[in-house]
Order: sequence, then structure tokens, then C-alpha cells
Amino acid sequence: MTKKLFVFVFIDVFIYACGIPKIVHTDIELKPVIEVTADAETNPVNSADDAADDICIWIHPENILQSTIIGTNKKEGLDVYTIDGEKLFSYKIGRINNVDIRNGFLFENEEISIITATNRTNNTIMVFKVHLNGSLEEIGAIASTLTEVYGLGMYKSHLTNKFYTFIASKRGRIEQWELQEKNGRVSGTLVRYFQVGSKSEGIVADDFYGKVYIGEEDKALWQYNAEPNGSFSRVQIISTSDFNMKDDFEGVTLYDKGDGQGYIILSSQGNNSYAVFDRISNQYLGSFKISDGNIDGTTDTDGIDVTSVSFGDKYPNGFFVAQDYENLQGKDTLNQNFKIVDWRKIADKLQVNN
Ligand code: CA
Ligand code: CA
Ligand code: CA
Ligand code: CA
Ligand code: CA
Ligand code: CA
Repeated sequence: MTKKLFVFVFIDVFIYACGIPKIVHTDIELKPVIEVTADAETNPVNSADDAADDICIWIHPENILQSTIIGTNKKEGLDVYTIDGEKLFSYKIGRINNVDIRNGFLFENEEISIITATNRTNNTIMVFKVHLNGSLEEIGAIASTLTEVYGLGMYKSHLTNKFYTFIASKRGRIEQWELQEKNGRVSGTLVRYFQVGSKSEGIVADDFYGKVYIGEEDKALWQYNAEPNGSFSRVQIISTSDFNMKDDFEGVTLYDKGDGQGYIILSSQGNNSYAVFDRISNQYLGSFKISDGNIDGTTDTDGIDVTSVSFGDKYPNGFFVAQDYENLQGKDTLNQNFKIVDWRKIADKLQVNN
């Protein structure tokens, strides 16, 4: 009797431990790893060593070519670049680690593009409004209860039209903050928190499906419900030990083709590549690397971002941006920067539809 009970208890634990749903990737070892070269690169950041980290892309509402790339310098602040990589503005506001953006936030009776960023100097989520010339205005600073703010990703709910910022700590704790205007400033309400397990940074929300993807650096990419009242159950998209993957898992982003279609892209930092997944099925489609060309390639990438918006002849299907650990210029090593790649090249070689 006692023996049977023991066996029963053991099996129960085993099923629980293996009970987290996991995407099964078919023919994963047959998937391509293709190489592309960068079409542009940003000016180097002001700080030496490992300093550039994460980026987001702002789409200019009137003149697409005046859109900008906003990049973090985790030693001293935020920089704003043209889509050709020229530095337009530089803000020394603290150790800004991750950054993200959403459009249509109601602020002083106007719909604005809102940016949030983790500031490790004062452990806050800093909030910015983007002006038409691409400059940033600070409109809020939300004090986090995390030991140290680290990763960040924004979510705009299609169910409620509310705006949220998810942040992650090096201990794998996640906070979800709802953003609201209050007396000409943006304040935050902590609406949910949970534990991923260990060090987590890369976060991207899929607003269309109400999901959020979180990279647990040494373990896996996870998908959670993004609604504040959503369940805490999660799906393992891919593990760092799977084929073509190598820890750390860093930046994660979404290529939005519209109508709920598109791709989730993940920086597999340990093998200098970017893994692409179907947004709906979460099936692995292949990986790409940015190799040396006229512009040096990327290695050890932290943050990534991508846009599907058409930039006319320049980038008809948008572009991809990746942080580069070692920014070479001939024989010289400059401060770190971000590389820009025409999305068509990635899609063509991976044989995914634009
Ligand atoms: Ca780094
Ligand atoms: Ca990291
Ligand atoms: Ca690691
Ligand atoms: Ca490089
Ligand atoms: Ca990072
Ligand atoms: Ca370079």
C-alpha cells in the first residue's frame, strides 16, 4: 500500500514538472541559417565597452523618412538616430537599459507616441513623449519595486485600449504597470507581477493576440497572457538547448504583417543569430546572421527591433535593427552601435513571405 502511494506521488510530480505546454518544432534541424549584410549602421554610442543595448523605432506620422530609431546607452542615457543612423539627439538621463514604444496614448487631449524605458540609476520606468521632430520629452518616472529594473516591453490592449509596460529583473521577476495620465504627467499602477524563474530581459507583447513573450536568458523563450487579469499559465516557445539556439536569449521583437500575421524574432546571443518564429503557430522557421559586408556584421546582440512599415524604395517592407557588440571600422574598433538591415533580404533568404 505504502509503495503504491509513493509511486503515485512521484508520477504526479513528474507530470507537473513536464506539464508546461511546449511548442513542438517539426524538422527543426532542416531549417535554414542564412546570412545577410547590414545596409546602414548608427553612429557609435558615447560610452566605451558594453554600452549600447536596446532600440525601438518611431514612425513619423507625416513623413516616413523622418522616422527615428531610439537606442539605449546603458551607461548614460538614450540616443535618437535617423533611419540612416545619424545621431539627432542625445539625453544623459541615467543608465537606461531597455526601451519600447506604442502609438495612440491619450495625453493632454492628444494622441501621442509614448516611450517607456528602464532607468537603472534611479530604478524607475521613465516615460517620454515623442515630438514631431523626433525629440523626446520626459513626462513621467514610475518607481519600480523590483530590486533592479532591467528588461522592458510595452503592451496596448485591444480588449480595453489600456497601455501597459512590462519590466523584468535579473532575478526573473516581472511587473506589469498600467500607464495613465494624471495632471500632465504619466503615472503607473502595478496591476500584476509574477516570477519567470531566472534572469529575464527581452520582452515583446503581441497586442493583436494579447500575448507577451519573455526571454529567460539561460533557459527559454516563454509566452504568457498579457492581460492583467490573464492566467499565469505559459507556453515554452523554444529552449536555449534546442537546435540552432544558444544562450543567452536576449532581445525579442515582432514583425507585424497585419491581420494577425507575422513573425516573432529572438536574439540567440550565444551563436550570434536571430531565430524567426511564425507569429500564429509559433513554429520555428529558421535563423539569420548579419555577416561582414561593406558594414561589419553583428555579434553578441542584446536588443533587436523591426518594423514592417514601408519606407518607399528604401525599405519597402521595413527594416530590422540589431545591437552590435563589436563595432569595427576598418582596423579600428569603435564604440558599440546598432546595425540596420532591409527586411526584404531576410525574408527572401529565409523564404518567408514579406
Ligand atoms: Ca551586451
Ligand atoms: Ca541580458
Ligand atoms: Ca548564459
Ligand atoms: Ca560588428
Ligand atoms: Ca541587454
Ligand atoms: Ca561599423
